[in-house]
Amino acid sequence: MAPSLGQAFVCRAGMVLVLVAVVVLLGWQFDVAVLRSVLPGANSMKPLTAVTFLLAGLALLNRGSRLPVPALGRLLSGLVAGAGAMSLAAYVLGFTLASDGWYPDPEALATDRIPGRMSAVTATGFVVLGSLGLLPDRRPWWQLQQVLAFLVLAIAMFALASYGYQASVRETQPDFTPVAIHTALLFLVGALAWLGSQPPQGLMRVVHARGLGGVVARRLLLPALLLPSLLGLFARVAGDWLSWSTTTVVSMLALVSGGAMAWLIWWVALLLDRLEGERAQVVALHGESHTDALTGLPNRRAFDEAIAGLVHGRREHDRSFSLLMLDLDRFKDYNDAHGHLAGDEVLRRSAGLLRCALRPGDLPARYGGEEFGVLLPDTGVDEATRVAERIVQSFHEEAWPGRAVTISIGVAAAGREEAAAGVVGRADRALYAAKIAGRDRVASAEQPPAA
Ligand code: GH3
Ligand code: MG
Ligand code: MG
Repeated sequence: MAPSLGQAFVCRAGMVLVLVAVVVLLGWQFDVAVLRSVLPGANSMKPLTAVTFLLAGLALLNRGSRLPVPALGRLLSGLVAGAGAMSLAAYVLGFTLASDGWYPDPEALATDRIPGRMSAVTATGFVVLGSLGLLPDRRPWWQLQQVLAFLVLAIAMFALASYGYQASVRETQPDFTPVAIHTALLFLVGALAWLGSQPPQGLMRVVHARGLGGVVARRLLLPALLLPSLLGLFARVAGDWLSWSTTTVVSMLALVSGGAMAWLIWWVALLLDRLEGERAQVVALHGESHTDALTGLPNRRAFDEAIAGLVHGRREHDRSFSLLMLDLDRFKDYNDAHGHLAGDEVLRRSAGLLRCALRPGDLPARYGGEEFGVLLPDTGVDEATRVAERIVQSFHEEAWPGRAVTISIGVAAAGREEAAAGVVGRADRALYAAKIAGRDRVASAEQPPAA
């Protein structure tokens, strides 16, 4: 069998079908009305219906077992569909079935139905349920299986709902659907088991989904399907046994269905709200993991991602960029003379000076220690050098605590086919050259290697 919601679920459903069928057959054998019809005076599950559910249950047990036997599955499903088809044919062609006379049928005698015969609706349900197991268990057929399973589900829900709602009109109209309540429930269980045994695709894909969509579908679909039927049963109980007036029953139904709808909206809203909160947290964490705590500048991680983006952009859109590598001069001495806290303050102020000297769209980052990197998109080497000169000048003009602080800068414009490491290496060597040349200055990198 293809991977599905769970073989245990399919097996359990199969067991329910078998168990209920056996109990109903015992009801016929030992003449216990409550086992045949659940509620006194209600439609009974006919003997052939019980036998057919027994076969359908065995088909499900086979399908959910560790080593399903496909031929056995097809045989059982064929018998299920056959029992339904025979009963329908008996109605249409007017012949009698041997199963009609298996046991005396007092419930049917009270109405004008054929005693011992399953209703045409039940027979149709079996034809569809049996066909499910006769279809090939592979790709294009799963969609059809799903449609058929939903058809069985619809028959079950229709029967369940009409069973209740018919209460208020019982005196004037016969039953809409002469289906026993447990027959309808077993169709429901059988159809759900088939849907559950489907691989995660087509309509069932969202039910298998791991995310919130899957949670909503798994928790809400079944209650939403069952609610109208449950309300119908509630209407019957309220009308028949509590003797509520029709107005009261209808008002209660409106209240409950409105309340259920409001609860549903509230719950989905709650999930969406939680999702939004988690998204905001992710955004905040992303921001934190890309920011340097001391200076508030983007950190090395953000710098690496940005330069990778620029390299990619240059290849894709023929855009260029330049890079500045900056390093505070004799900063170790500054720390030694004024302490690390004063050194930290210098780093913070340096970050401020960088921000002021740059244009929107330029990206300053703390590369590490007392080193900074600046990415200048769409900027050639001449313009980048001017920006670097402006930064050096701004360090001259700053009123530093302790002693003057200067900075050295290496400038490199990215070559056409150059990788990120190539530009960074050249800017670094230019920075080293600026240090050698006496610090507090700008040096340009050598040309990139020709592509
Ligand atoms: P050069 O001009 O050659 O770059 O000399 P330098 O002293 O600046 O270079 P060196 O690499 O010898 O020293 C860098 C110093 O930067 C050493 C380290 O204590 C200091 N430093 C790195 N990160 C921090 C920081 O976060 N806070 C402070 N206060 N100091 C830092
Ligand atoms: Mg350094
Ligand atoms: Mg330094």
